[in-house]
Amino acid sequence: MGFMDRITNMLFPQEYICLFCKGDTHYRKDYICTTCIKLIELANREVDLELPGIGKVYYSTLYNRFIREKLHAFKFQGKSYLYKPFGEILINTIKEKGLETNIDAITFVPIHKRKKALKGYNQSELLAMYISKQLGIPLLDNHILKVKWTKDQSTLGKIDREKNLKDCFKAINIEDFIGKEILLIDDIITTGTTMEECSKVFIENKASRVHGLTLTSSRYSDD
Ligand SMILES: [Zn+2]
Repeated sequence: MGFMDRITNMLFPQEYICLFCKGDTHYRKDYICTTCIKLIELANREVDLELPGIGKVYYSTLYNRFIREKLHAFKFQGKSYLYKPFGEILINTIKEKGLETNIDAITFVPIHKRKKALKGYNQSELLAMYISKQLGIPLLDNHILKVKWTKDQSTLGKIDREKNLKDCFKAINIEDFIGKEILLIDDIITTGTTMEECSKVFIENKASRVHGLTLTSSRYSDD
């Protein structure tokens, strides 16, 4: 780190730390250092769920060891501040795929309010809030509720995942999104059931189209 960087670092320490490794050298603008960025395999790929009204679901990175560990820390170990570097990774995909021009509003896959109270935050909500703020896209933050307490999807197979999530989302304040194209944020896509169920609720309540965006996908994971 150069002399001026060191001075700036003393003045604004938060801004000069990689939030993934807490290293303070070779800082980049997106809270990710040059060492960590090499461990992230950017993919910007698409999954086609082939459901009426639902556009593509995009995901940003391959599900490698680094992403798996950091995502686990973000979701289950209280490292909520990781919404910043992860949010930057999602913004990169939005720009790369030209999604910004179509989207009227951004929203996120909700968790049950009891679960949110236990955890203190919903990681997908933090990501959506960050993207909304950075890109100036309106946020729909009280429009879909998770009304059923469900089992953790990662413990279930495809059929049980569908059963588990049946009728568990409910739309409210519908007038805010009628006719709108929505970008729905989640942290990970596996079978796509969560994205499908959530998108369906928006489409049934007259959103014009829903696109999905997740950080990563364990659908085609090879480990
Ligand atoms: Zn780092």
